[in-house]
Amino acid sequence: MVTTELIRGVGIGRGTAVGPVLRMPDPVPDPADARRDGSAEDEQARATEALAATSAQLRARGQAAGGTAAEVLDALAMMADDPALAADVTHRIDDGATAEYAIHAAMASFRDMLASMGGYLGERAGDLDDVARRAIAHLMGLPEPGVPRSDTPFILVARDLAPADTATLDLDSVLALVTTDGGPTSHTAILAREKGITAVVGATGAAELVDGDQVLVDAENGTVERDPDQERVDLALQRTAALSAIRAASTGPGRLADGHAVPLLANIGSIDSAREAAARGAEGVGLFRTEVLFLGAEKAPSIDEQADTYRAVFAEFPDQKVVVRVLDAGADKPLAFLTDQGEENPALGRRGLRALQAHEQVLRDQLTALAKAAAASDAHVQVMAPMVSTPEEAEYFRALAHELGVPTAGVMVEVPSAAILADHLVPHADFVSIGTNDLTQYVFAADRLLGTVAHLQDPWHPAVLRLIETVGRAGAENGVPVGICGEAAADPSLAIVLVGLGATTLSMSSTSIADVRAELSQVTLDDARRLAALAASAPSAEAARRAVADARS
Ligand code: PEP
Ligand code: MG
Repeated sequence: MVTTELIRGVGIGRGTAVGPVLRMPDPVPDPADARRDGSAEDEQARATEALAATSAQLRARGQAAGGTAAEVLDALAMMADDPALAADVTHRIDDGATAEYAIHAAMASFRDMLASMGGYLGERAGDLDDVARRAIAHLMGLPEPGVPRSDTPFILVARDLAPADTATLDLDSVLALVTTDGGPTSHTAILAREKGITAVVGATGAAELVDGDQVLVDAENGTVERDPDQERVDLALQRTAALSAIRAASTGPGRLADGHAVPLLANIGSIDSAREAAARGAEGVGLFRTEVLFLGAEKAPSIDEQADTYRAVFAEFPDQKVVVRVLDAGADKPLAFLTDQGEENPALGRRGLRALQAHEQVLRDQLTALAKAAAASDAHVQVMAPMVSTPEEAEYFRALAHELGVPTAGVMVEVPSAAILADHLVPHADFVSIGTNDLTQYVFAADRLLGTVAHLQDPWHPAVLRLIETVGRAGAENGVPVGICGEAAADPSLAIVLVGLGATTLSMSSTSIADVRAELSQVTLDDARRLAALAASAPSAEAARRAVADARS
């Protein structure tokens, strides 16, 4: 009998993939602040060669990738070529540093200077770390950091992917992604959903996999199997084919088996993603992340500039709902004109609606631009506020939106206080939309971007499900619609549970809509409620998943 090894993680999507492993090199360690042994000239020559090699490597990668990736990589190459940086490195080597440490320290000082400028340049500060790591890896004889390249398709195994890695990911050669760190809201998971790549994240056991291992990645079951036998591979591939058939056959609006309507909406952040969502059959937009449009902006965009962009997005959804979220600045999405500098704990700082209240003119201008664009469009435009924590904040936002000409104004429920007090908060909103990414982060006090606490970032956890149930009940009692727009809505089984807990619409990356639609069509509202009750009463996320899977098998 062939023995197989099963590695468990969190699956993204429902696909399967089989192929050889290629590992992404581990991060390059920071060099020690040691004194150099050799002469300053020799050390200088090493540093110059490493920076030149790094620049050449980045340009070559850019040329191979083309498009926006080429622009990103050329910009990084220019940083490696910067004469001011070279002068700083020379100076540090003259003072006794090794080439490794001189590059590390010089880049760090440039990075801090850029970061203090804020705005677009501040955003680019992290790129200097990437350049430094490449040059230091070259000096230490370590593999080139970043996504490896291969002529044959492979399964990429990594700790987690940084946003910079995703720019160079060649979707034709990557069969699936497996990460040891990172949870369902990590960059890797979001990318996998957006691009429809099979992925298993947070699979700690995948640290044991080595280049060339043959693996079967099964996203639906959240497993990675080393040396699978042919029978299991065939079974998995058959299941994927059956799912694709169900998916292809499931078109039209989202409905349960008993005809109960669950509109399936898209999460978007740009005009391009709006077009893609419309093409994929989204029934509208449940979350338009407007801050993404202005991440590099130094100052607040004008009313006309905003209205032009909004009009282009609305044009993709005639006669459909488009829920626009006003700027959600702060923490992982700082905007130079809204975000306070130097907060020690920006995830708990003046972010979201709090930042907008402190800069009310920015909020007024955005609402005015939205009202203007909506008046010139056939879309049913609604607005919502991010990071609302009290009924007073909900009322403040609704009153202002109504005053400025947007008649439907809701709030996101993504701070636990808003969910706990849902019965008091819901009457102050025209609708609510639950952001499960931040709700989970704040329920567990676990940074959603941090791999070391990723195991806690799981929206299947009953601690999160019970809060969603509280909001669902308050919505039903007050006749207020309850949407879900966090990544949880893109998980087909969890989508059933969310409907059972009272969600009236689901919004997700548009690539997930077909899977969710197919899954919802298999159950009635009574089934969904029964499964939701099982999940919410389980003691853990794992037990909730298992209870639902067992009850459906
Ligand atoms: C959320 O927090 O769940 C959400 C949808 O908002 P974002 O991911 O943009 O913070
Ligand atoms: Mg959020």
